[in-house]
Amino acid sequence: MDVDGDGDAVDAEGAMVQEPDPASAVGAGEGASPAPREPGGPDGGGAAAVDGGGAGGLRRAPGKARRVSAEDGEAPADRHGRGRARGEGDDAGERAGGGSAGGPRIPGDPRDTGGETKEAAKAETGRLRRRLAVLQEKLYADGRYALLIVLQGMDASGKDGVVRHVFRGVNPQGVRVHSFKQPTPRESAQDFLWRVHQAVPPKGMIGIFNRSHYEDVLVVRVHGLVPEGVWRSRYARINDFEHLLAESGVRILKFCLHISKEEQRRRFDRRLLDARRHWKFSPDDLRERQHWAEYQRAYAEMLEACATPHAPWTIVPADHKWYRNLVVGRAVVAALEEMRLHYPQLRSGPGAAGEG
Ligand code: ATP
Ligand code: MG
Repeated sequence: MDVDGDGDAVDAEGAMVQEPDPASAVGAGEGASPAPREPGGPDGGGAAAVDGGGAGGLRRAPGKARRVSAEDGEAPADRHGRGRARGEGDDAGERAGGGSAGGPRIPGDPRDTGGETKEAAKAETGRLRRRLAVLQEKLYADGRYALLIVLQGMDASGKDGVVRHVFRGVNPQGVRVHSFKQPTPRESAQDFLWRVHQAVPPKGMIGIFNRSHYEDVLVVRVHGLVPEGVWRSRYARINDFEHLLAESGVRILKFCLHISKEEQRRRFDRRLLDARRHWKFSPDDLRERQHWAEYQRAYAEMLEACATPHAPWTIVPADHKWYRNLVVGRAVVAALEEMRLHYPQLRSGPGAAGEG
């Protein structure tokens, strides 16, 4: 079916087919933890935590800094009706060896693997999945908290893959996935958080946002869909909104799936070359790719502005699917463990089991 998960392809019959390992592990370190600390500074190996704007909520999985290619060509007219192509120079930056157009970009190295091997990472992810299934049941039984997982990233960064590979062992009754697409006319007629608030998981549930309210400061900004003053003011609105959720028992984990421009191209190529993956490809994806540098800037600023202690961002190196899954799996399991969930006691009194 696809290879967006941990590097395993699943064929039409559901049999697992081994996908070639795209690259070997680099760097050393103990891998990402939910609240990693970075001993070697922002660009060193090992677990990393980067305080976001003093808020302490921007966390980066381990990695060595690496420039992500960018080009300054404008996009062809896109679905948003903005932008015109200046040329065909889509991949000029990456062909030139990852040259940079400058400006802020998502920190960290998308290729990082935290010193893990693929085999060990996949084994650990399997264990995390089993633990997650147990913790999800406890979350439901306990009923005091909800868990909200926000997945953001460029096209083909693996948002669907995380859902499929990290959460596949969980009881489907306990998880709701919500994919945020272009707002419908009804949604556009409301404030930008209206549709989001309705999708927030109730206590006992895990909610996964595949894209989210962050699109309203990303795609909306890149395509100039609202004036700058409007999208900029949304940083504060989002922080307040997430604060409200956190105070209401919603634990929020936000993951920025960080892929390189080169890896995105490889994934697009695979989608184009394999008929079974054509459905995953949209010409819009190529048009959005033309805006790579602008998205990098938008992501970088958003990560700084919206990293808070109650709703931290984790930047996940996502060129290696197996490492991406491991980082997210660890963080999700750790967050649930921290809740100290327990099964409720058998109720006594009128109406309790065994009475009447
Ligand atoms: P897939 O991996 O299947 O392509 P996707 O999340 O890219 O998943 P699409 O249907 O291809 O899904 O695209 C949804 C599009 O909707 C994205 O390009 C996203 O930027 C856009 N979108 C989401 N929220 C908003 C928003 N608030 N305003 C404008 N566009 C939005
Ligand atoms: Mg898409």
